[in-house]
Amino acid sequence: MNNAINEKTVDNASPRFPLLTDETLLNCMHCGLCLPNCPTYSLTNLERYSPRGRIQLTRSIFEGKLSDEKERDDVSDAINSCLGCLACVTACPAGVDYETIFESAKERARALEPTKPASLLKDFAMKFIFPNPTRFKAASRLLYALQQSPLEQNLPDGLKRAYRLAPTFSERFFDETYKSNRKGDPVLFLSGCLMNTAFSDVHRDTAAVLESVGKTIQMPKGQICCGALHAHNGYLNEAKAMAEANIRAFEESDAPIVVNSAGCGAMMKHYPKLFEEGSDWHRRATSVAKRVSDLSEFLTELNFAPTRKLNARVTYQDACHLEHGQKIKAQPRTLLRRAFTEVVELNSPECCGSAGIYNLLQPDWSEEFLKLKVEAIQKTRADFVITANPGCLLQLRYGLKEAGLETRAIHLATALRMALKE
Ligand code: SF4
Ligand code: SF4
Repeated sequence: MNNAINEKTVDNASPRFPLLTDETLLNCMHCGLCLPNCPTYSLTNLERYSPRGRIQLTRSIFEGKLSDEKERDDVSDAINSCLGCLACVTACPAGVDYETIFESAKERARALEPTKPASLLKDFAMKFIFPNPTRFKAASRLLYALQQSPLEQNLPDGLKRAYRLAPTFSERFFDETYKSNRKGDPVLFLSGCLMNTAFSDVHRDTAAVLESVGKTIQMPKGQICCGALHAHNGYLNEAKAMAEANIRAFEESDAPIVVNSAGCGAMMKHYPKLFEEGSDWHRRATSVAKRVSDLSEFLTELNFAPTRKLNARVTYQDACHLEHGQKIKAQPRTLLRRAFTEVVELNSPECCGSAGIYNLLQPDWSEEFLKLKVEAIQKTRADFVITANPGCLLQLRYGLKEAGLETRAIHLATALRMALKE
């Protein structure tokens, strides 16, 4: 089976985001309880950078009330500066579905954007590279080769920061090299895009940890990138087409689906919201989404026990799409307390500033959030900061290195594997 969606599928995808209704937008009662939890509001104290302000602006977009170019620019700025961290969703007593509002607003904000070289490049990557695993792997191989050369010193200053934030691509990709050592109950595994080509070590650690609880991973053929980057950056038609490809692939069997990237797991659990209620795709998306577990919730349910306790001080960074997107907060801490002698809390609840490609598109604000995070990590005096999302890992590694700290940022799967005797 061809595992790439074709561009025609994207063009013909069913209507966009049927769940963004007037009611969704009107649910906000303007109480302001979300404001102190919003990192961009905390940074600016400006209403338009708050969840409540953004919901109002989104209403004005959808009601066609934007009068001139300046006002349109202000709206794009307010929407594009949102991290999509969903801290406001956790804080909201009215259950406002900000995620749906945000994704729809981003799509409209993208339509209002003037065409620039950076947006053309983003379009190219989103439409032609990420949805097609063959092209994504070719791009990863090219980047791997470039990373073997002394590239950084020859880059213009404007690109050096992006280079330092970039993942280190693997020479060999996980889905092309993995072989199970043991037979166990099958779990279906999302190999993903970047996780597959730049975090193959994390995938191998995940497979080893799952094998320790009697599971064997299987990677359904036809699976592709989850589409989270697309949904959060205004490419909803592409996100839907990618969701359809993954739903088809993961219907291969009714085994549990395990995901080790917070953003990808949240996206797969969110698939039903991309389709009209009552439609066949909504039913299929719901059935797949119900089987998705983050690695930490899956292992906690199976009462995963490491074979040794490591003498190290660790702290845990909540990935937004685990804490707010999936409401998973206790499980990773429970697992870490079983694996390490000291687990200390990180006094920094807000997003690290990674937020998909936010750190590339909004570098100034991203650096502000990262600074807060790195200061908090420094105060913990931890040997390791542990998280469960590739974006957070890259952001933390970059921030720790720039600050000259020795604390190492690692994935939860790696931390748990370290506590397994070989
Ligand atoms: S998603 Fe995050 S940054 Fe955006 S409005 Fe909500 S709390 Fe603020
Ligand atoms: S989004 Fe929720 S918490 Fe924020 S102002 Fe609206 S109702 Fe209140």
